[in-house]
Amino acid sequence: MSWNFDYIIVGAGFAGITAAERLCTQFGKRCLMVEKREHIGGNAYDQYDDHGVLIHTYGPHYFRTNSERIKDYLSQFTEWHPVDYAILSHTENRYWKFPINLNTFEQLIGRESTSEEMEAWLEEHRVPIKNPANSEEVIISQVGWELYDKFFKGYTLKQWKRHPRDLDASVCGRIPIRTNRDDRYLREDFQALPKAGYTRMFERMIAACGEKLRILLKTDYGEILPHTNFGHMIYTGPIDEYFDNCHGQLPYRSLRFEHQSFSPNELLEREAISGKRGFWQPTMQVNYPNEEDFTRIVEVKHATGQLCENTTIVREYPDDFGPGKEPYYPIPAPDAAVIYRKYKELADAEFKVSFIGRLATYRYYNMDQVVGMALAEIDRLHPAIH
Ligand code: FAD
Ligand code: UDP
Repeated sequence: MSWNFDYIIVGAGFAGITAAERLCTQFGKRCLMVEKREHIGGNAYDQYDDHGVLIHTYGPHYFRTNSERIKDYLSQFTEWHPVDYAILSHTENRYWKFPINLNTFEQLIGRESTSEEMEAWLEEHRVPIKNPANSEEVIISQVGWELYDKFFKGYTLKQWKRHPRDLDASVCGRIPIRTNRDDRYLREDFQALPKAGYTRMFERMIAACGEKLRILLKTDYGEILPHTNFGHMIYTGPIDEYFDNCHGQLPYRSLRFEHQSFSPNELLEREAISGKRGFWQPTMQVNYPNEEDFTRIVEVKHATGQLCENTTIVREYPDDFGPGKEPYYPIPAPDAAVIYRKYKELADAEFKVSFIGRLATYRYYNMDQVVGMALAEIDRLHPAIH
């Protein structure tokens, strides 16, 4: 027996589901989506845990974008819960305002200050580098060694198992540094979470496809290829895996998540620290750059706004990638880029396959960028109608 589809879509994450929704609803294409995990949503999947808390299963996913097109597109499938994503850093036995801003500077010098004084201090401490070439340079050129050592060096070494010097400037360059009191972690204009969660939003995108879309979960696409005829493939898995690692495996970082839940009674003694009834820590995320083995503790209930008496925190431990582990992060570094370029050359020659998403393009992309990439690829495949 064999199946016939216009498209086969490998992976049911943001990239795959966006592509499927456009192909089915805008172009009436018949699509088969194949996902090896037991659920849709890829790394953005969220779920209610056994304690009734809505958690981000694969680490915190803070939606943000500067693109009206992407926001409007997703808004067809979800309402939004606006959030000013706020975090803290914890080192030397205390919480620090983070990302670095005037409040952090005041903590550092132990008294009130002004933006002008902070700017003068930074001017004195920053290392003049015109075009920062790596993640160490991008931070020391803005704030100097002391703040780099306190907040960035240890975190980055843990997260990537590489020195910041051996990572692209874009990695640590993601973190804003300000001299005012704006303490939002992210820079983008629109910052919000899907009101009923990511999974609900994905379910609506899939429902819009109706009969045009068939989904197979818990299936590696390799298993069904021999039984499927299709016109084109949208591939969102790891690019090296697609080519059987013929140029060697690309480097990835993986993660281990340790969940811990608390009842209202257990939370009472945390109130002095969290400052809020029903919460374990003061903000949705606390980064641990130095003393601990984990990089951050996330209590996503702060961001989702869920009204729930219990809470769940997640400690995130960076891990080596290997058999049975997820390739959560491509590594933005010159040596990895050399290998990726070889795969990209092979991908460019595969005319019946589109490589989109974080893993298939080996890019440290946020969710909105992945949606943008999927929309652009469908425009490219069906230019006549656009
Ligand atoms: P994925 O979500 O990885 O989906 C790819 C899917 O393909 C997976 O479900 C996988 O199981 C499946 N697949 C792979 N190989 C096969 C195969 N052989 N057969 C069948 N299926 C296969 N972005 C933000 O914007 N904000 C954030 O705060 C944020 N936080 C993050 C935190 C963490 C810990 C991580 C890891 C990522 C974070 N991201 C964040 C990035 C975000 O997860 C991605 O941009 C987005 O989810 C990528 O979507 P995707 O579809 O490209 O990939
Ligand atoms: N980073 C750091 N200290 C921090 C936060 C981030 O050194 O307290 C660096 C680290 O290298 C990290 C990168 O900045 O991997 C990007 O941080 P972000 O919080 O955006 O990471 P993500 O949420 O993508 O894991």
